[in-house]
Amino acid sequence: MNDDRRSAHYAIDMGPMPSLPIAGSDLRFPVGRIYCVGRNYAEHAREMGHDPTREPPFFFMKAANSLVQNNATINFPRASKDVHHEIELVVAIGTGGKNIPVEQALEHVWGYGVGLDMTRRDLQGEAKKMGRPWEMGKSFDESAPCTALKPVAEIGHPAKGAIWVKVNGQVKQQGDLSQQIWNVQEQIAYLSNLITLEPGDLIFTGTPAGVGPVNPGDKLEGHIDSVGDLVIQYAR
Ligand code: MN
Repeated sequence: MNDDRRSAHYAIDMGPMPSLPIAGSDLRFPVGRIYCVGRNYAEHAREMGHDPTREPPFFFMKAANSLVQNNATINFPRASKDVHHEIELVVAIGTGGKNIPVEQALEHVWGYGVGLDMTRRDLQGEAKKMGRPWEMGKSFDESAPCTALKPVAEIGHPAKGAIWVKVNGQVKQQGDLSQQIWNVQEQIAYLSNLITLEPGDLIFTGTPAGVGPVNPGDKLEGHIDSVGDLVIQYAR
């Protein structure tokens, strides 16, 4: 990426760069782009009507300004009657690259967080049926809640451990990071063969089975062992 923007004078004020807090630090992690992996846990692929054994990984995006900070109360999404939770491990890319080999992929990771890939399932389903893009089902206001990031230096690379989400205190999704069809290093290698990864990119790494609807007033609590706890309250 060229660096003209650092010294440029802009015609309008765009507001602050999207970013996430860093656990135990005053510094923030700047976020450029958010890539998401589809159907990366076998049971979830099956519940969505697909055969998990035959697909290479595929990716879609959310706008970086869809991020929501932990412990926020947020507005219920507009334009949908079927909003779903998808709890996911989030990978924060510290150094970019293209055609990154699997064996070197983890060296590009700065840290990890716990995220929700909130989904307007009805709009996504409609788009699938009509052969249209998914964006309006996936990338919308406040569709990407995420915890503060924890650096690799502190927690290493979590390859196993419980991942779950509760809605109003009831467990809805439950799985283990080890159930991912494509692990983090494979996702990075694969994605970097398609696009050049940049520092500040996030990867939402897919969700275990049990996706389901949320309603106005619901409280979502997400957890991944050693990575963190995410709490999001929807306004009534
Ligand atoms: Mn997802």
